[in-house]
Amino acid sequence: MSAHKDAYAEALDTASAHARAWLATLADRAVPPRTGADELAAAVGGELPDGPDDPAEVVGLLARAAEPGLMAMPSGRFYGWVIGGTLPAALGADWLVSAWDQNAAMRFPTPAVAALEEAAGAWVLDLLGLPAGADVGFATGATMANFTGLAAARRQVLARRGWDLDRDGLCGAPRVRVLVGEERHDTLDLGLRYLGLGAPTPVAADAQGRIRLDALAAALDDGGDAPTIVCLQAGNVHSGAFDPIGEATDLAHRHGAWVHVDGAFGLWAAAAPGLRHLLAGFERADSWATDAHKTLNVPYDCGIVIVADPAALRAAMGVRASYLIEPAGPGGPADPLEKVPELSRRARGVPVWAALRSLGRSGVADLVTRLTGHARTLAEGIAALDGAEVLNDVVFTQVCAAFGDDARTEAVTRALLADGTAWMSGSRWRDRAVLRVSVSNWSTDETDVAASLAAVRRAVAATG
Ligand SMILES: *Cc1c(COP(=O)(O)O)cnc(C)c1O
Repeated sequence: MSAHKDAYAEALDTASAHARAWLATLADRAVPPRTGADELAAAVGGELPDGPDDPAEVVGLLARAAEPGLMAMPSGRFYGWVIGGTLPAALGADWLVSAWDQNAAMRFPTPAVAALEEAAGAWVLDLLGLPAGADVGFATGATMANFTGLAAARRQVLARRGWDLDRDGLCGAPRVRVLVGEERHDTLDLGLRYLGLGAPTPVAADAQGRIRLDALAAALDDGGDAPTIVCLQAGNVHSGAFDPIGEATDLAHRHGAWVHVDGAFGLWAAAAPGLRHLLAGFERADSWATDAHKTLNVPYDCGIVIVADPAALRAAMGVRASYLIEPAGPGGPADPLEKVPELSRRARGVPVWAALRSLGRSGVADLVTRLTGHARTLAEGIAALDGAEVLNDVVFTQVCAAFGDDARTEAVTRALLADGTAWMSGSRWRDRAVLRVSVSNWSTDETDVAASLAAVRRAVAATG
């Protein structure tokens, strides 16, 4: 059956109409979904139909069925976890990526998306002030971007000890020691598990969650000449704090360690002149991971891995098969498949290109600065409430607040979520229940901030 040339028209028109309707509700809509996954299962599941259905009708059906179960994550009043929204240009680009349906593994069959991703990668290096010769890969998120940087690190620190990981694997290899701040993100541990490196060695952190240099120095001294990887953090999910990356990197390098920086949301501080000091010296590290789907506000899923030594990344991630070889032969710029774990994948770097092209240099700086400003306003407003206490120094986009004892803080969090005006997730930080705020959405404005503060005030009043 050859597709009629208008085969897509109705399905896409239906999708576009529903997408616009959804986006239009965000300004006024309550943030939480109105129903849960179990309730929705009946509407979207049941028996698989025996035969085909009209594509446009299927799209309409799914849009109507899903709507009550959608969390307004792209709302300007959503501050849960660390969740970015979607810039208009990035969303438009994402639709095109699906329509083009390019398998972005190699340069020669898909030159358009390869060139767009290479341009986006070069812009990211330029904006962040990272070495222009570094390799940039587009992974699914910061979990896999961390994994990828750590895979390059693992292979390299073992190679420096004369161990051939590709041939001999990890069994019998010198044990690779991985030092992490005690408040690193849990997904770093996950990446290390995937890599067979076991649990990392935690290094003490200060009251804001930053790795302590004295403790790092002691840990490095302890390890003798074991192959070592040091993971630093740019942006703590609770406090937003940044490790003293430059000093820690120099210390680690004096011990021959590879330094990897997890900057899932915080790396973008480097693009804002007023915030760049938080990352002083971070360009001296060996690898970096960040997300585009958080601070940069592209749709899921998009993480970015950057490795200063392209050879280290390509050796860890590259795959060669006879049917993949470029007719012109090897050599020249890297293929995308040499920079990320995936072989076949969507061209997820294209929405990054569109986001950066639409914002420009000043737009990225404004975005990051604005998010931080809203976080400060929210922190000041919350601190002024009866019995409230902001627990962190608000240096970036994150705020952690408590309202007396844990029971009261948890009650305020529940009341706030039930109110529905704003979403801030609860958590525990430094042994206390906290209400966590992450300002990560490009569209959050003063009106959203005022409405959200009013909602917190109501929640506090209701839990007297
Ligand atoms: C979100 C986050 C991650 C994990 O990123 P994903 O995109 O969810 O895979 C890792 N580190 C930090 C600091 C984060 O905030």
